[in-house]
Amino acid sequence: MELSELGIEGLKDVLDRGEATPAMVLDSFFRRIDSAQEKVKAFVTLSREQAYKMASGACGTGALDTGILAGIPMAIKDNICTKAIKTTCSSRMLENFIPPYESTVTSRLSDAGYVLVGKTNLDEFAMGSSTENSAFFTTRNPWDLDRIPGGSSGGSAAAVCAGMCAAALGSDTGGSIRQPASLCGVVGLKPTYGRVSRYGLVAFASSLDQIGPITKTVKDAAILLNVIAGRDPLDSTSAPMPVPDFTKAAGMDIKGIRVGIPREYFIPGMDKEVEGAVRAAIKQLEALGAVPVEVSLPHTAYAIATYYILATSEASSNLARYDGVKYGFRAGGKDLMETYMNTRAEGFGPEVKRRIMLGTYALSSGYYEAYYGRAQQVRTLIKKDFEEAFKSVDIIATPTSPTPAFKVGEKAADPLQMYLSDIFTISINLAGLPGISVPCGFTGGNLPIGLQLIGRHFDEETVIRVAHAYEQSTDWHKRRPG
Ligand code: GLN
Repeated sequence: MELSELGIEGLKDVLDRGEATPAMVLDSFFRRIDSAQEKVKAFVTLSREQAYKMASGACGTGALDTGILAGIPMAIKDNICTKAIKTTCSSRMLENFIPPYESTVTSRLSDAGYVLVGKTNLDEFAMGSSTENSAFFTTRNPWDLDRIPGGSSGGSAAAVCAGMCAAALGSDTGGSIRQPASLCGVVGLKPTYGRVSRYGLVAFASSLDQIGPITKTVKDAAILLNVIAGRDPLDSTSAPMPVPDFTKAAGMDIKGIRVGIPREYFIPGMDKEVEGAVRAAIKQLEALGAVPVEVSLPHTAYAIATYYILATSEASSNLARYDGVKYGFRAGGKDLMETYMNTRAEGFGPEVKRRIMLGTYALSSGYYEAYYGRAQQVRTLIKKDFEEAFKSVDIIATPTSPTPAFKVGEKAADPLQMYLSDIFTISINLAGLPGISVPCGFTGGNLPIGLQLIGRHFDEETVIRVAHAYEQSTDWHKRRPG
């Protein structure tokens, strides 16, 4: 067996037993990267030299001796700042941006001894569901190279799926960890809003953005969450909540756990194979002792409209900083105003421009209350739906994505179709809840399907517990593309 087939837990065993050195592990992953990157295009930047330095302990904190992630090769989504390594957000605007500082999550990974192999592709500024909005190239789904890997963390999910890293980090504003994990047949965990510091994450929609792990197994996601979770003085939105040992939840039985099945998430016209796989997964949870309970989330129908007003409004404000003056790309112009205009016209791609315009309109004077104000109110209703449901259940189970991976180009020309693919993930961000996607089956055409499990605020433990119990009772997570 190639070492690159292993996840964090498997590699730790091999390294602990002294059967391989971090450099041997890295050799195996780079062999895999060298054969797969050309086809899959998961990475925007490979940091080979730096990786071998990290794997030799040359970066020098002693983490390689004691760290929980000692010698584990990982990939990081390219909207998370890594000091002295390019962080592009897959945008022309930041094509040559080398951050002078490290994000909190990557500095915690470094302290734990991880090895950074590279930065992964995404939809420009994390806006999209397919990586087709990357300014550089589209990442391909390792299960079928004619299909998208999902997005926006498509590069991270594809890299984990193809064995180009042991695990990765993504960011999730409306589904960007869970949806690509689902479409690539790996695990993706979006923690509760506030659980993980966003210091050094390039902001898209600040009231929704969260960083989380994309891994081969649920246990690996728990290991990573242990490392990155917790209050950070550099991010005032990170919560001062105690951080339990999440790995303990992976291994507990789920007898008596009440699983909510929201009526609104099983709708006529949804993909039959997705529905079948998710219903079978719920049966499996029942076989493990869980108790299914029908629940209702009545404001689900408004989630997409609400999200696409709030997220674009916040994006229009966050992206105002890219003006060609402070940093990043600058186009010429005869005066300051023309420089601003040319810079933003040339530096941003079409989807980012569309969102800035939508958001600016929603925030404009005279319209603010009608759009942004209204959307905030609906957001509260969506949040209350979940609070109501969680009075009678411990966890909620839904599909992660309404369809399996679609073909490259299939939805690219129709933004609305693309936005609709976020239907099952977006409400969870609006409500700030933790959610995970775990593999739960395959279509007849051999494309992965994901089960989404949603928990109460700061109850990642139940999410991990149920996901792990389900995963261990099935073989879906063991399948890998050829
Ligand atoms: N697909 C959603 C969007 O385009 C979510 C993206 C994300 O979570 N970053 O906004």
